[in-house]
Amino acid sequence: MKPTEFIWHKGKLVPWSDATVHVLSHGLHYGSSVFEGIRVYETSGGSAFFRLDSHVRRLCDSARIHRMEHGLSRERLTEICHEVVRRNQLASAYVRPIIYRGFGTMSVDAGATPVEVSVAAFEWAGYLGADAIEKGVDVGVSSWTRAAPNTHPAMAKAGGNYLSSQLISMEAHRHGYVEGIALDVTGNLSEGAGENLFLVRDGVLLTPPLSAAILSGITRDTVVTLAQDLGLTVREQSLPRELLYLADEVFLTGTATEVAAVRSVDGLTVGAGRRGPITEKLQKAFLGLFSGETRDKWGWLEPVRREPPMISTLP
Ligand code: PMP
Repeated sequence: MKPTEFIWHKGKLVPWSDATVHVLSHGLHYGSSVFEGIRVYETSGGSAFFRLDSHVRRLCDSARIHRMEHGLSRERLTEICHEVVRRNQLASAYVRPIIYRGFGTMSVDAGATPVEVSVAAFEWAGYLGADAIEKGVDVGVSSWTRAAPNTHPAMAKAGGNYLSSQLISMEAHRHGYVEGIALDVTGNLSEGAGENLFLVRDGVLLTPPLSAAILSGITRDTVVTLAQDLGLTVREQSLPRELLYLADEVFLTGTATEVAAVRSVDGLTVGAGRRGPITEKLQKAFLGLFSGETRDKWGWLEPVRREPPMISTLP
């Protein structure tokens, strides 16, 4: 990763190497952090955040679930994201805000531990490698199950949840796969280690529901919206594992991943063994938002503010 100049850290921009935390920080010991991954694209109309509102909302939702009072309004968090991209002079970026419990107590109940906020931005290419768009990647079903309902809340994008993702992803790599697909506690399909999952069978787009221990992905929502706009039938429903082996097409979605084609699952070829036609159509519609070929009817693109605000009064 190429460092950028500044990171927003505890209330101000500091040099990249100064954005450090104490080794006894609560978040480090107990996983008490919530975060986001947001992309800025260099679009035909200039640099723009993609669905910044949705990401800031999910960040605040995650903090609410874990009762982290950070004291920043959604407008202020939005302003900070803009400032970090602007001050680092990035044309395209991956923006990583994190709200975490800092240094204060070693008690599991954080009590008076300070809640701190940092926002970094840097350049980041595709997550699942160069083959993810056209050729497709090889994936395997994980031996690890995602968290059961009413354990770790899946709707919170919390640091602690990523211990599960790490096990899934490390196991997949050990077995020679690019990514692992996890089942939920009932044995039905859930999601990838860091992506939501879609299947196509007989022209219908299928994806597991929120109750399958998935993160409520913003790319997932984007793809569902684009698919419906293209006239495709989309069904959000509980899906048995074996449907993965019978699907005509499989793909994964995520902010870092975008829309990645899957060419095999557990060594079984998916469809013709390369990106299928509906995956291609949706990739085109998705990437078209940034090239200008897909009209942004939904107001998802938000130009990076190149002027600083007149001293912010926002909380
Ligand atoms: N599931 C998990 C576990 C993830 O980490 C991610 C990436 N944030 C996703 C799904 C996809 O979510 P999004 O499209 O909002 O990036």
